[in-house]
Amino acid sequence: MTEVAFLGTGVMGLPMAAHLGDAGFSVHAWNRTPEKARPLQRDGIAVFEDPAEATAGCSLVVTMLADADAVLDVAGRALGPGEDDGAPDEGERVWIQMSTIGSPGTARCQALADERGVAFVDAPVLGTRAPAEQGELVILASGAESTRPAADPVFDAVGSRTIWLGEAGAASAAKVMLNSWVLGVVGALSDTIALARASAVDPQVFFDAIDGGALDLPYARIKGGAMARESFDDVSFTLSLARKDADLVLSAAREAGIRLPAMEGTHERLERAETAGHGAADMAAMFLATPEHQGDGR
Ligand code: NAP
Repeated sequence: MTEVAFLGTGVMGLPMAAHLGDAGFSVHAWNRTPEKARPLQRDGIAVFEDPAEATAGCSLVVTMLADADAVLDVAGRALGPGEDDGAPDEGERVWIQMSTIGSPGTARCQALADERGVAFVDAPVLGTRAPAEQGELVILASGAESTRPAADPVFDAVGSRTIWLGEAGAASAAKVMLNSWVLGVVGALSDTIALARASAVDPQVFFDAIDGGALDLPYARIKGGAMARESFDDVSFTLSLARKDADLVLSAAREAGIRLPAMEGTHERLERAETAGHGAADMAAMFLATPEHQGDGR
């Protein structure tokens, strides 16, 4: 039985770890707040108090943590020097990094993997809480060809589709590009529902009008519906992590020498909503940060 350490059992990581257990992996789970990992014990998954203990003896290590700093900190503690941590022989261990951390964060992880003598796979995911619970994520994967036999069974357990994209870093660049679409849709919805409210149009007119046509989108119904109801407690993706992703999109654009004016507006909405205390709410709560016209031409 392949032993896999799963580090980070939040909204996404918890169901992903459970799916790995269901697929026959021997899962060693760890989470900074251990209580959040405990439900996995019901499925026979071992929960550890320390990331290095969770990783000992595992040929596979998966990280699903908030951001690059968290990933580097946890992986730095979990991936021992390779000699006396019970790891398989150097070169056999594969670290599959599935958090959204962008290209610069991924390059730092690759450097850490090289230093610790582990193979590295950059594998962020497309999908949110429901697809994670259903094992239907889309995995964007990149890394050495030699890692595929180890990584593909992991991806098959948590996802419905894997798109391999070349050398490590390529998948994270693609993920940030895709997030510009996801965040852009929710930003545009915020404007649309805000304008409906402000001009006394029932938001239901929007949903009725797009129904079944080329402009219809399940995501618009989920996030736009939450805005119309002003109900943001059913969290699929926290607003703070969405702001982190908007940071990644804008810094990728800066790095590439372009500006993304729509994303700058969405980023501002997210920052305002986070400052107003909605960071732990669903990202749709960016709707609450609709600036009011000042009447001064701005
Ligand atoms: P989440 O529920 O907020 O979980 C975040 C995880 O990171 C938790 O395990 C948390 O531990 C841990 N963490 C945060 N800061 C840490 C630190 N400094 N040290 C150690 N652990 C730390 O987030 P999520 O929605 O599962 O997202 C996880 C990753 O997947 C993120 O990179 C996110 O951008 C990405 N992603 C999310 C979605 C989505 O729709 N939710 C979709 C695609 C990709 P605690 O439990 O102790 O706080």
